[in-house]
Amino acid sequence: MGESFTSAFLVLFFSLSLFYFQHYSHYFSTGLLVLFTIGLFRNLLNESDISISPLMLIQSFDPWSGRFCTCPPKYSLNPYTGCSHGCLYCYITSYIPQGFHCRPKKNLILRLSQDLTKCHDRYLSISNSSDPYPPEEKKYKLMTKILPLLKDSGIKVLLVTKSNLITRDIPILRTMSLAVSLSITTLDTDWAQRIEPHAPPPSKRLHALKLLSSSHIPCSVRLDPIIPGVNDEEITDIITAISPYCKHVVSSTVKPRRDAMKRLSVALPDIVTNLSFQLQGNTYYLPKKQRYSLMKKVKKTCEAEHLTFATCREGFPEMHTATCDGSHLI
Ligand code: SF4
Repeated sequence: MGESFTSAFLVLFFSLSLFYFQHYSHYFSTGLLVLFTIGLFRNLLNESDISISPLMLIQSFDPWSGRFCTCPPKYSLNPYTGCSHGCLYCYITSYIPQGFHCRPKKNLILRLSQDLTKCHDRYLSISNSSDPYPPEEKKYKLMTKILPLLKDSGIKVLLVTKSNLITRDIPILRTMSLAVSLSITTLDTDWAQRIEPHAPPPSKRLHALKLLSSSHIPCSVRLDPIIPGVNDEEITDIITAISPYCKHVVSSTVKPRRDAMKRLSVALPDIVTNLSFQLQGNTYYLPKKQRYSLMKKVKKTCEAEHLTFATCREGFPEMHTATCDGSHLI
């Protein structure tokens, strides 16, 4: 109220000054105009809720500003820059230089501590542009260091990984407001080795899922991406294998960007040749009919196994029976 009055007073004073002095000195009144405009803007900024101390490390989740994304508003944190799992279909190489070269974020603990004091009531997703448990985590132990900070802050955490290394942290994970999303794309070790060359094999991921589940940590599975000719025939087997240990499945068809398309074309020429990709913006999509049919198959299998289901960036929100990212599990 007091600051609104100050703003009104400034506007009135500025108008009268301008009227009086414009008859005597054009330059003087112009200078006055600039000075009072600056003062007025500063006053209005103080009245607004604009933060003057932005977050340094945590970011607002921005899924490529994607028109198909149905995620609730949330924060995103990547302890590492880049990811050494090297999945052929991965999109990070389109915007992270040396995307498959994993390096720890600098001053992670200090910057995260400061950011957490400024976070509002949203979920924090870890990670979206890297895996939080790459092989380098054995050496750097960044997750071991940041999990206590996250726990003390009380923020709700969504942990997304392909790695069984997450089981190392079960003792603290089970005490947090948290859900884990484990990515399992295939049960076939050879296929996994070809498309996700440096990620742990399916057997280790499945074992991790069992351990997390038996520790009463809420889990979902990302059956993502589905690549016709690679893992589409496995949909039923995968969901049957995971269903005792998770409550929710999120699935998506393969959507490579240009550089990922090159990797896929080199590694899987016969399969890529048989797919009718359509370029939309900077992303290749399978035909809508094919994507819908694949997602419907996943959904039907989930329903048979009493699992909730959602798609990721497919544009079929009517199919969802729960949040797409599994945040409802927290
Ligand atoms: S684990 Fe995720 S971030 Fe890492 S390379 Fe694979 S798709 Fe990319």
